[in-house]
Amino acid sequence: METKIGDGIVRTICSYCSVGCALDIQIVDGKATKVLPAKDYPVNLGRTCTKGFNLLKAYDSPDRQLYPELRQSDGSYQRIDWDSAATIFSTKFKQIQERHGKDSVAFISTGQVPFEEMAVLGVLAKFGMGIKHGDGNTRQCMASAVVAYKQSFGFDAPPFSYQDAEESDLLIFVGANPVIAHPIFWQRVKMNQNNPSIVCIDPRLTETAKEAILHLAIKPKSDLSLLYALSKYLIDHDALDKQFILDHTQGFDEMAKHVQEFSIERAERDTGIAASEITKLAQLIQSKKKVSFWWTMGVNQGHQGVRTAQAMINIALMTGNIGRTGTGANSLTGQCNAMGSRLFSNTSSLISGHDFAVPEHRQKVADALSIPVESIPDNAGKSYDQILSAVDDGSIKGLWIICTNPAHSWIDKHAFFETMKKLDFLVVQDIYNSTETMMIADLRLAAAGSTEKEGTLINSERRLGIVQKVMQAPGEALSDFDIFHKLAKSWGCEQVLAKLQTPDQTFEVLASLSKGRPCDISGISSRALLVKNGGIQWPWPQGANPDGPGLGGQHRLLFADGKFFHPDGKAKFLTIEPEPAGELPDNDYPFWLLTGRGTMHQWHTQTRTSKVELIKKMYPSEAYVEINPLDAQRLNLVDKGKVKVETRRGSILVDVAIKDSVQAGHIFLPMHYAQTNYLTYSSFDSFSRQPSYKIGAARLIATDGSIGG
Ligand code: SF4
Repeated sequence: METKIGDGIVRTICSYCSVGCALDIQIVDGKATKVLPAKDYPVNLGRTCTKGFNLLKAYDSPDRQLYPELRQSDGSYQRIDWDSAATIFSTKFKQIQERHGKDSVAFISTGQVPFEEMAVLGVLAKFGMGIKHGDGNTRQCMASAVVAYKQSFGFDAPPFSYQDAEESDLLIFVGANPVIAHPIFWQRVKMNQNNPSIVCIDPRLTETAKEAILHLAIKPKSDLSLLYALSKYLIDHDALDKQFILDHTQGFDEMAKHVQEFSIERAERDTGIAASEITKLAQLIQSKKKVSFWWTMGVNQGHQGVRTAQAMINIALMTGNIGRTGTGANSLTGQCNAMGSRLFSNTSSLISGHDFAVPEHRQKVADALSIPVESIPDNAGKSYDQILSAVDDGSIKGLWIICTNPAHSWIDKHAFFETMKKLDFLVVQDIYNSTETMMIADLRLAAAGSTEKEGTLINSERRLGIVQKVMQAPGEALSDFDIFHKLAKSWGCEQVLAKLQTPDQTFEVLASLSKGRPCDISGISSRALLVKNGGIQWPWPQGANPDGPGLGGQHRLLFADGKFFHPDGKAKFLTIEPEPAGELPDNDYPFWLLTGRGTMHQWHTQTRTSKVELIKKMYPSEAYVEINPLDAQRLNLVDKGKVKVETRRGSILVDVAIKDSVQAGHIFLPMHYAQTNYLTYSSFDSFSRQPSYKIGAARLIATDGSIGG
């Protein structure tokens, strides 16, 4: 579908981050020539960041994968046609399944493609090919938020709209740096007319912390202790919405008992923050009418990420800061379609937010797809890390990686590469031939980019928006949708996709399957409606009146009626005892190693942003480590000099960047450089299985060989 907004303009959604800005693409003589930020789209209101503005250029690159290729015994790649590629895919994976059992093949997908493609993959792989174990790279960024919401609210339901950032009078950012990570969302914060108080909880003096009236530069991973101390203060000072607690929650007494151990003095010891500063924040929460919490990877990528997110949810619930404008415990998503992946990818939950373990849900999905219910597994299968462990122990022999680059992004890369060597066959589907993961593929499948195909994305505020084809894919590259259909045919299971022949048809099936679920979008009769309405936030059930109370307009939040998604309608308070991270600084490795986003201009593993010359000028081309001036002076390190950063996993040589934004005793490595994950420490949140990228112990070795401690 190609819907034109005015003459020569096609509107599409930016496919980098989860803010979900709309871009108006100017088409002249059949060619996409220019990107203009959409002025009338309720997300970006005429703004875009450098990544979105240069989106077209990312796809115009000499390293595009133009056709399928098969690795030869000498390591070179030979061009093959699509029929041969599909036959090789099916033959190899079927052989592995015959030799080692059905579960010896797995897939890892993405939060970067439209959810119609995710759903087709999930249906094809799990119900058609019998590949039970499949997960996505959203495990690396959003899994802890997902589990936190599911356990606390009864469904993975971020409650907010961006407009809440404009209406809040206290915004507390925890492990989040939206100034560079969600730059257009940050513009919405700046539009707030209430002179809001902005608080930032982060070990570093980030770009967001610099905008805050209060920055709590806590010791790494001491956030749980801090949040519990705030809870205790609010309980002790009777700063509660008791009626809300009584009517709409369960587990308050257990939570209140748990946090009694967390005095402000204990939090001062645990976090390194003065008691007076912690008290100041508690008093701010107590005094403000519209308090909102916002978190991202600093929380999700922690070893207790789920319970840390829930510690914020607890405060929002106990103070009645939920279901009202300007409030909420709000997780900002990472990738452009992380939420589409959460609801429709058929990985951690059954398609359309259903549960693999519930027989009625399996039957409903089977009926909608006209497939036998027996083909639907009764559990979600292994998580990302468990799939890799199974490769490592030899029980998974074939792996299919779609639109993600784990050879760059997975935690502890040395171990990752060792694991990959144990595979019998690795298929990688991507748009470039140069990603670290494509470089080790046995079979390469050439995919189209987001501006070369059709589909739907869901942004952080639950808004569905569509991507539209504005240019042709180069060479023989195909949309992921078409690749999946080709593979289905060659496998001999195309029947399983009979109801999912086009993105539009797939959308309609998914929408009908969502009926009655919290993420009900059955009222969106066609994707064309998404263009007309400036995107639509879920839920949008059948009969929804765009002008009606609670549904219409641009500001929609969940839980205004105090009803949550657990069977009793109540939200749950959940707690845990804080535990130290698995690896802490010691005499041998005395620095805290922190990782995170480097600049607004870099996207994740830089597979796209590194293709745009203009963007490349805006960030350091070489990997660097940020070091506090005191440590640099003590170790005789000079700015832009070289230093070796070493952990128990390995060592890398990088540039020195002396910055007082990192505390003495801490060092910070941006995640965008291929070297970083050679050093990261592999540990996982036990509830969400999300990797804990944020912590590790390191030492610095000067180029003269002296070790820094
Ligand atoms: Fe794209 Fe995110 Fe930038 Fe908006 S803020 S233009 S969605 S990268």
